[in-house]
Amino acid sequence: MRRHRQAKIVATVGPASSSPQTLRALFDAGVDVFRLNFSHGTQADHRERLQAIRAMEREVGRPIGVLLDLQGPKLRIGTFADGPITLSAGERFTLDLQRELPGSQRRVALPHPEIFAALRPGSELLIDDGRVRLRVVACDAQHADTEVLVGGTVSERKGVNVPDVLLPLSALTPKDLADLDFGLSLGVDWVAMSFVQQPQDVEQLREIVQGRAGIMAKLEKPLAIHHLDEIVERCDALMVARGDLGVELPAEAVPPIQRRIVRACRRAGKPVIVATQMLESMVSSPVPTRAEASDVATAIYDGADAVMLSAESASGRYPVEAVRMMDRIIRTAEDDPHHRQALDASHTPARAERGDAIGCATRRVAALLDVAAIAAFTSTGASALRMARERPRAPILGLTPNESTARRLPLAWGVHAVACGAVSDQADMAERACAIAREQGFAQVGQTVVVTAGMPFGTPGTTNLLRIAQVE
Ligand code: PGA
Ligand code: MN
Repeated sequence: MRRHRQAKIVATVGPASSSPQTLRALFDAGVDVFRLNFSHGTQADHRERLQAIRAMEREVGRPIGVLLDLQGPKLRIGTFADGPITLSAGERFTLDLQRELPGSQRRVALPHPEIFAALRPGSELLIDDGRVRLRVVACDAQHADTEVLVGGTVSERKGVNVPDVLLPLSALTPKDLADLDFGLSLGVDWVAMSFVQQPQDVEQLREIVQGRAGIMAKLEKPLAIHHLDEIVERCDALMVARGDLGVELPAEAVPPIQRRIVRACRRAGKPVIVATQMLESMVSSPVPTRAEASDVATAIYDGADAVMLSAESASGRYPVEAVRMMDRIIRTAEDDPHHRQALDASHTPARAERGDAIGCATRRVAALLDVAAIAAFTSTGASALRMARERPRAPILGLTPNESTARRLPLAWGVHAVACGAVSDQADMAERACAIAREQGFAQVGQTVVVTAGMPFGTPGTTNLLRIAQVE
């Protein structure tokens, strides 16, 4: 069972997609990685979904990735005494710490003391995805007096974004720590951290995870973009989280940042997901807008590893259709000769390291010869990712004895992960790679498979071997 495309599809599981039948339909339509969004649903909901995915994985005999997305420090205002209020531009409005006091036309609680410590006159607060904007006029440790810049209706518990202020908040709340513990014990493959502000946030997560899952940073704060390269260096994958990014920054700032992040990740050889509102109108319509189709294709031409569905698959009316549509858009873009040109033009040269040298050589072999597949033996997944970094013409088989590696690799561009036993010697390696390429539908008798591995076998970080083999 193989996919006929290189870029991957991540789909969020929610009420519209939790039954085993729908999960299976989503997988068959093209989902490579399922996202469990811990901003919604209970731990019990997520456990049931994960168990259903694992049962399906056994049924289809293919490794499937599961991404746990932590809610992170989402800030919210308190309640109002008499229902929603309407603010007009120019009015004064106060935020304070009095959580037990219901809000009025003059004030509401914002029960996060850290924020008041960090606000300055001139700071902006955005309520309800930026629909209402406030500017701080005066503030102290308990209050912020603001002027309404953009008015609108505000109802209780709406989210608050503070774009330009470094909030002295951990990116891991007590809820996140509990969810993390829960998810790791269930065996998720990737953990995504929301509202990363600085490189240290990622380190904090890494210390807790201890290698039990891959670490993904969600870039959704403008301040994080200033530390882009350091954050990329410290995590295993990234998400361009355009939802909150587009609240904290004007919409027109998102496309160049998306490109910058994708480039930085490709340079570093770390998988990158472009996320949010990709096929948004399919929440309620069986077909996307032309602009949405074009948005997905743009991420593919830029060479992103994966594109993601949120509400479209979690709570929309057409979850399976959305995946099918995404699959078709990706395949059509990848079939366009301009796609190869775009990838080659944005290719970043190999670094002066052994593993990269093998990757770079393999890419050239695949450009010169008619190569059916590249088989990369990999224990941690690093060798398969290095191959993916090259964005070669031939599909990559990530052959690994580790189940956890096999389940992390479905996120990576062009990598078809296969769990296989340890190999003993070079002849065994070539034979095994060719047999798997045949079995999995990548190569036929007489075709060429390029095999890479490290000797001694099974020792991470030793990639030093490239062999051109023929399927017999
Ligand atoms: P969310 O993250 O869906 O968890 O908010 C993605 C985004 O902000 O784009
Ligand atoms: Mn977000």
